[in-house]
Amino acid sequence: MGINDKPLIGISSCLLGQEVRYDGGHKHNRYITQTLGEHFEFVSWCPEIAIGLPVPRPPIRLVDDGDGIRVRGVDNPAEDYTARLTGYGKAVAQEMDRLSGYILKKDSPSCGMERVKVYRGTRVEKDGQGAFAREIMSTHPNLPFEEEGRLMDPGLRENFIERVFAFHRWQTMVAVGLSASSLVDFHTRHKFFLLAHDETTYRRLGRLVAEAGRGDLESLAAEYLSQFMAGLRHLATPRKHVNVLMHIMGFFKAHLDAGDKAELLEVIDAHRRGEVPVIVPITLINHHLRKYPSEYVKGQVYLEPHPRELKLRSHI
Ligand code: SF4
Repeated sequence: MGINDKPLIGISSCLLGQEVRYDGGHKHNRYITQTLGEHFEFVSWCPEIAIGLPVPRPPIRLVDDGDGIRVRGVDNPAEDYTARLTGYGKAVAQEMDRLSGYILKKDSPSCGMERVKVYRGTRVEKDGQGAFAREIMSTHPNLPFEEEGRLMDPGLRENFIERVFAFHRWQTMVAVGLSASSLVDFHTRHKFFLLAHDETTYRRLGRLVAEAGRGDLESLAAEYLSQFMAGLRHLATPRKHVNVLMHIMGFFKAHLDAGDKAELLEVIDAHRRGEVPVIVPITLINHHLRKYPSEYVKGQVYLEPHPRELKLRSHI
């Protein structure tokens, strides 16, 4: 499987500005096409068009009439689109192995990732999932998925993009050739990155990787990837960043004079107090690492897990 240099992202077509919505409109998201478009390539799917529905078309919605959730026409509930949408999702999911992430249109009965309205008689509850989204998400449990609405939250946006680049690095490593040593190297480079997300996963994967070279590598790698991607879903918090930053400082603090040490500790603590974004202590740490290099720390993905121009670490 060839892997793109730029991560390839699946996306709901209407978010790219294609006029495929039921009302003939689109939901163009400029952050996605302009900012993320510099770093990702997109491939789009509109499941409702793909199953043959016209533009414009009568609206559809999720309905639970006691026999499970169905996708039905709003004006004509006898029209049931469930089988066509799930069948299309199942078929097209097989073409998504090269994707490194997927951005879905929120609230859609076809594309919504979560909290889609479900009509239950007179009650409406936001606990549904789009019929197409459910199929592709269950076929690709390790693939990072996010909705465009949640992408406007700085923390969730950072987490999604981190996962996309992490998954892309994994795909690239596997495309070059999976071996016990490539897996150990991958894990070594991601140690602080993992620690910033979930310490339990970090420790568990350390024990798992110690088994590489004994037993079946393919199944060990599959287990590793599944836990790795699940661990990254935990948001990196100031407390976790402080833990990692103190670890990194340990690699060169013997070289620092009292003033530099106090300055770095103060900047790390300012991040813990929520006064400066994490990019501030990381920039200072990079400055010291240039003066007192450590090969091990320099190789850590944590220091630059995604392109700096995306400015994902500038939020508090
Ligand atoms: S939400 Fe999905 S099904 Fe609806 S218009 Fe957009 S791409 Fe098509």
